[in-house]
Amino acid sequence: MKIQSGISLKPYNTFGIAARAERFAILRSEEDLRTILRANIAPLHLLGGGSNVLLTKDLPGLVLRNELKGIHVEKETETEVIISAGAGELWHELVLWSLAHNFGGLENLSLIPGTVGAAPIQNIGAYGAELKDVFEKLEACDLERGERRIFRAEDCRFGYRNSIFKNELKGRCLITRVWLRLSKSPTLNLSYRILADSLRNKGITDPGVREVSETVIAIRQSKLPDPARIGNAGSFFKNPEVPVQLYQSLKENYPDLPAFPLPGNDGQVKLAAAWLIEKAGWKGRRIGDAGVHEKQALVLVNYGNASGIDILNLAREIQHDILEKFAIDLQPEVNIW
Ligand SMILES: Cc1cc2nc3c(=O)[nH]c(=O)nc-3n(C[C@H](O)[C@H](O)[C@H](O)COP(=O)(O)OP(=O)(O)OC[C@H]3O[C@@H](n4cnc5c(N)ncnc54)[C@H](O)[C@@H]3O)c2cc1C
Repeated sequence: MKIQSGISLKPYNTFGIAARAERFAILRSEEDLRTILRANIAPLHLLGGGSNVLLTKDLPGLVLRNELKGIHVEKETETEVIISAGAGELWHELVLWSLAHNFGGLENLSLIPGTVGAAPIQNIGAYGAELKDVFEKLEACDLERGERRIFRAEDCRFGYRNSIFKNELKGRCLITRVWLRLSKSPTLNLSYRILADSLRNKGITDPGVREVSETVIAIRQSKLPDPARIGNAGSFFKNPEVPVQLYQSLKENYPDLPAFPLPGNDGQVKLAAAWLIEKAGWKGRRIGDAGVHEKQALVLVNYGNASGIDILNLAREIQHDILEKFAIDLQPEVNIW
């Protein structure tokens, strides 16, 4: 394995930020992992596809990009299959692989950028589904103890765009392999209205996993900017979960404020961050090369030469404004480095 110096990270993050890594290496094997542990370079920044990070500075230490590969069927019954995938596999490639085998469970999560190993970090989710719905276990290298650890679903403490790996174990575990439980006779999840409506509008009355995946892909392509054309990291902020009382008082001024109940938590509701940002007048606004996407207010974009700080400053202005206007403290979903 080659450890390079002074590498530009521009091709390695979907915001297209031109920060540099003091050292940079690509992890492709167990042997590479042992080399990295022996080299003991600190700090260590674990990178997958770079689709959920904002680089605000040049990074000291070592940036380690995960390219551990391999998809296997581990166990099969008449109704289910347990598969495992190397952390460096591309998530959407895994979704396509599952569809080619007619395995259900990943179709709603089609076209999410990034790697398999990053999926548990924020419990990726879209169109009414989350990684945790199909998650079996993962293997990670505990970088402090230098030993292999297995995490079952309950150990990962999955929440809304959250897990133990964003909290207590932040930066401490390098995920190497993920196991998922897929179905051979899937029950489709069409709970998300836009998805159900789109299928109906296409005249599809009895969809299979492929039709669901194709429809999710079409919706995503119509709404979200393609990072290959315009730098972004998807939703920049999380949808805020707020006390019902706050929601009710806001609703007096904003009768069309959308809210979603949180099952199992009667005291809180989830609001749409995109709605708040749009209502506050930020949709489509641009400061230099940093902007709020014109079609999706939750997505901050790099129109070309924005620095990470430009994007961060824009994010802070939005946070400040939303706090003033709605008394809501928006939290970033993106990892700020
Ligand atoms: C256009 C667009 C649309 C998106 N849509 C969605 C969506 O619908 N739903 C959703 O949930 N997300 C979405 N995202 C965000 C992003 O795709 C996911 O968070 C994805 O899981 C990030 O994967 P990555 O490999 O790019 O992670 P990176 O950005 O490389 O890393 C993200 C975090 O995970 C850590 N990490 C990465 N790999 C490992 C590893 N092997 N072990 C330990 N830590 C690791 C990093 O240190 C970092 O903290 C979108 C992003 C874009 C650009």
